[in-house]
Amino acid sequence: MRKALILVFLSVISCASYSQSVVRTCQVSRLDSLQWKDLVWMFAQQDSLTELEPHQSLTLILEDSQGLRTEKTFQSDSTFRMNESVDEYLAQRILIDKPDLTAFWALELEDDIRLFKSLKDSLQAKFKFRHYAMRYSSETRSLKQQLSLQKRGRSKIALSMHNFSLAADVAIYRKKRYLKRGLMYDKMGAIAKDQGLFWGGDFVGFPDLGHIQAFKNSAELLRQHPNLAFEFEHFKSNYEQIYVQKAQIGREDLVQDTRDLLEAMNEFRLGQPCLCDKAQPIPISAQFWMNSYQQNPKPRIHVNLKDQWAYVQRGSNGYFFPLGIWQR
Ligand SMILES: [Zn+2]
Repeated sequence: MRKALILVFLSVISCASYSQSVVRTCQVSRLDSLQWKDLVWMFAQQDSLTELEPHQSLTLILEDSQGLRTEKTFQSDSTFRMNESVDEYLAQRILIDKPDLTAFWALELEDDIRLFKSLKDSLQAKFKFRHYAMRYSSETRSLKQQLSLQKRGRSKIALSMHNFSLAADVAIYRKKRYLKRGLMYDKMGAIAKDQGLFWGGDFVGFPDLGHIQAFKNSAELLRQHPNLAFEFEHFKSNYEQIYVQKAQIGREDLVQDTRDLLEAMNEFRLGQPCLCDKAQPIPISAQFWMNSYQQNPKPRIHVNLKDQWAYVQRGSNGYFFPLGIWQR
């Protein structure tokens, strides 16, 4: 289902000749070597966690160009935190369903979260107006909460800076009565910007007067923290949908941040290995494994560099894909 949607969006994008920078396609190419993390990316490319039960384990199998076979299995560990081993944390990110992203990415975001906290405190300290008070109404949000907000139409995006503890919502009160809007939000926004924070009142498309965040937009966050690309990649079709909907009616100006994000996501993937969406019959060199894979179905990806194929299995079914490289 998700794959079909992506194909539709991509064809819409190319027909209407929108900004070509958001387009990325997997071109069949010969790959001579791969790292474990590439296999995890490839598995994620063909995975859709939104529709499936979370996996218990993930097995990576690599046959190099000499035919030498190596294998690696990861078991789901809900307490896992990002560490130095890229393949391990990417695999865990597939296995853990909707983790606490702030905790999972703590190693990556520690400094930014600390800085954001202190800027937030000083905004609160500097907001001094007679009869008015401000407090933070919503700060860190779990991925589960964010997805439910999106489902109910309260948020457009699947991933928010709130998920990484890099955004907060401000509520302003006049004599203890909550104000939904008004000049005081502009004043709060001006102080926030003065501190180096970014204010939601400046958002084009859907201004959010009570929102402050640590980065200009998600693309900026991604450029500072390329490791987070994996997180955003998971929701790529959602962002494409938001972009295409506006671009189609000639309002690309309203979704500049989304376009910027898609561009940043592409920058990190161009030149990287991928699986091409082309029908592929069972390769002769795969027949040896097929019986045992079908008898023992589990999430696995098997890449054969000698014959240039990949097999991705989630449930009892598996599919073969030609190998390729992401290109514009
Ligand atoms: Zn917010």
